[in-house]
Amino acid sequence: MEAPYIMTPGPTEVRDNVRFARSERCTNPDLDIQFYDFYKDTCEDIAKFLNTKNQVRILSGEGILGLEAACASLTEEGDRVLVIDNGIYGEGFADFVKLYDGEVVFFKGNRKREIDVDELKKFLDKDSKFKYATVVHCDTPSGMLNNISKICPMLKEKGILTVVDSVSAMGGEKLEVDNWNIDIVVGGSQKCISAPPGLTILSISQDAFEVMRNRKKPIRSFYCNLLAWENYYEKKWFPYTPPISDIVGLKVAVDNILKDKDILKRHREIGKSVRIAVKEAGLSLYNENGYSNTVTAIEVPEGIDESKLRKYMVDNFNVLIAGSFGYLQGRVVRIGHMGENAKKDMVSYTLYALQKSLENFQFYCQCDMANCFLKNAKSLE
Ligand SMILES: *Cc1c(COP(=O)(O)O)cnc(C)c1O
Repeated sequence: MEAPYIMTPGPTEVRDNVRFARSERCTNPDLDIQFYDFYKDTCEDIAKFLNTKNQVRILSGEGILGLEAACASLTEEGDRVLVIDNGIYGEGFADFVKLYDGEVVFFKGNRKREIDVDELKKFLDKDSKFKYATVVHCDTPSGMLNNISKICPMLKEKGILTVVDSVSAMGGEKLEVDNWNIDIVVGGSQKCISAPPGLTILSISQDAFEVMRNRKKPIRSFYCNLLAWENYYEKKWFPYTPPISDIVGLKVAVDNILKDKDILKRHREIGKSVRIAVKEAGLSLYNENGYSNTVTAIEVPEGIDESKLRKYMVDNFNVLIAGSFGYLQGRVVRIGHMGENAKKDMVSYTLYALQKSLENFQFYCQCDMANCFLKNAKSLE
């Protein structure tokens, strides 16, 4: 199978050195003691770009496993959990909380706007009796970036633990786990980190581990039990055999990020330049503010079938972009410009392909999007 360029908001393109690393000879990761150091080093490297001293763990399963594991490990029957919701993943946290018999209380924001921190503060001043709160860093289906640098410290000040879904932001947006007081942050291998899908990454604070240790009843899951991973290194024991080739590949992807000193700046420049090109073309961004620099959601012009548009792009330009789902199904197309996709040439080619494909459906842009993008992104080499 020859894959098209995947300019989607995850999975993203995977660099050759990551792919080749995954073909290395394997050891027995349960019994070969060296692997425990390799796993620990990989976790410590990840902690560097999360800016945290908290424990990091890599689990076998993609982002959804991390989200469920956080909720499964923290929630006990009847616990009140604040679910901060301004998008599909924001709302989705409620399902995990309910599955483990937590009581969901929503804080609902406007779906086209980032969570209003002042409104949230007013809400918390009236009611803050929550065991933990969930919030999404970048809600990918709409490309919505929430200001977790303000939200998480505010929650923590009220004694509320914080669980952040940063699956599509980690590695592409600033993330300061310790400064922002994030108890559990969840990432995935296949978004900005640009390794293939299959792994989830969590950083877990001591406060979160303590809550898990002091539960009245044991965690109601084996695969989602984060406490089982607490002392793997001391015990030289993993709850289940780690997917060694995936982790070897991840280590190289993480090294790629750590060596790339301008990575966040590049994401910012590219995100901003895409938005300018989209607007100058006479297209509309879905969001009104809170734009993520990892993904852009563009409204589909009246009368165009987005699935036909995207198919035309693949068939004629060999580039795959994404539609969306839930209430956004058919309404937006999304370009993922995160991780390996945050490259000037790939993004400008994608905009060129989008423009030509729109023309095929009788929508004519008011500027040359690729040129407009390149002009604005000219500070990047
Ligand atoms: C991709 C993603 C996940 C993981 O979901 P999958 O659909 O299984 O890839 C979780 N949260 C967010 C915000 C994501 O973008």
